[in-house]
Amino acid sequence: MIETVQSSKDAIALEDKYGAHNYHPLPVVLARGEGVHVWDVEGVKYYDFLSAYSAVNQGHCHPRIVGALSEQAATLTLTSRAFYNDVLGSYEKYMCEYFGFDKILPMNTGAEAVETAIKLCRKWAYEKKGIAENEAKIIVCENNFHGRTTTIISFSNDPDARKNFGPYTDGFIKIPHNDIDALKAALSEENVAGFLIEPIQGEAGVFVPDDGFLAEADRLCKESDVLFIADEVQTGIARTGKLLACDYEEVKADILILGKAVSGGVYPVSAVLADDKVMSVIKPGQHGSTFGGNPLAAKVAMAALEVVRDEKLAENAQKLGDIFRERMNAFIAKTDLVTLVRGKGLLNAIVINDTEDSSTAWDICVALKENGLLAKPTHGNIIRFAPPLVMTEEQLHDCCDIIEKTIRAYEEKA
Ligand code: PLP
Repeated sequence: MIETVQSSKDAIALEDKYGAHNYHPLPVVLARGEGVHVWDVEGVKYYDFLSAYSAVNQGHCHPRIVGALSEQAATLTLTSRAFYNDVLGSYEKYMCEYFGFDKILPMNTGAEAVETAIKLCRKWAYEKKGIAENEAKIIVCENNFHGRTTTIISFSNDPDARKNFGPYTDGFIKIPHNDIDALKAALSEENVAGFLIEPIQGEAGVFVPDDGFLAEADRLCKESDVLFIADEVQTGIARTGKLLACDYEEVKADILILGKAVSGGVYPVSAVLADDKVMSVIKPGQHGSTFGGNPLAAKVAMAALEVVRDEKLAENAQKLGDIFRERMNAFIAKTDLVTLVRGKGLLNAIVINDTEDSSTAWDICVALKENGLLAKPTHGNIIRFAPPLVMTEEQLHDCCDIIEKTIRAYEEKA
């Protein structure tokens, strides 16, 4: 029987009883979304300040993206790659031109795209760079978040992500994020094939590297014939105020990983882009996915990226991000509870004056919800703020008022 949910309480009880407990959601049950707003089952309206972890950059249920979805859904959804279809080629051309690469390998989720990039890098290392088979190493950063597959968690240092999921996959060297000397040392090791990095570490708590770090890292990689692999699953698609976070330093990655907002959150779409010298190592049967690059995904992604360009979402993210940090910095000067705001464009976080394992950030998020704004902690003392990029300046000021009012009330109560 298909159960109709009557209340938020019912919905939470159903998830609790029948779903694996692999998430710890805020107690709000969303039933509808439009632009920067979502509504719960009882009809209460909220500002969405998470955007499905930056997948809904274009705003909820953008009519142009939903239109592309429903039109293609009624025409042809999936053929698999056993046959050609009449959309994939034009999608591939569109993506290559949009991001400036020779080739794309289409996948579905962010983690799959990261896995794809790792496989591509290793294969390139053996077949082009001449590393002996099974010896290739990829440099990664501490506190990274690239997804949840067995290989990806093998190079995570989050105990929750790793514990009791071993044995782990070999072949990774971990260095501190934003540390050029550590990168230089790692690059001098034997058999290094790639350097995989989030240009801004999102899940770790929105850590922005020093100006010039990405450009210097890219230069060092090129000097060592090592592939610079940018995971822009969270930072990409205008979130940080440029189309890609790497654009701030005019870095063109050797392998670019995209996901989330490529589809505006309407459908799972991810992609790996590279030039021919790298992508040509992949031959039939060596990698793929039944759903990767299906016509529905392709049409949705093209509509989502047209929206980003036509509605100037990168420019808006940059402008509103500056206003957000300016307001938060002015507020921080008057409160002891928040010590810092950091970020780029509309990918920001505030740091609470408490320990990493405290519940303060969670408690503040619950209070924010009561005041009509949804956000989620990344750690006990860090709250990420990432609203849809279609937000107006007036709405942003309204949201800053809510954040300030909530934190002030929390502080007075404590
Ligand atoms: N890479 C980065 C930088 C991410 O932030 C995420 C998800 O948050 C992923 C990869 C994994 O994406 P997905 O959850 O779609 O597998």
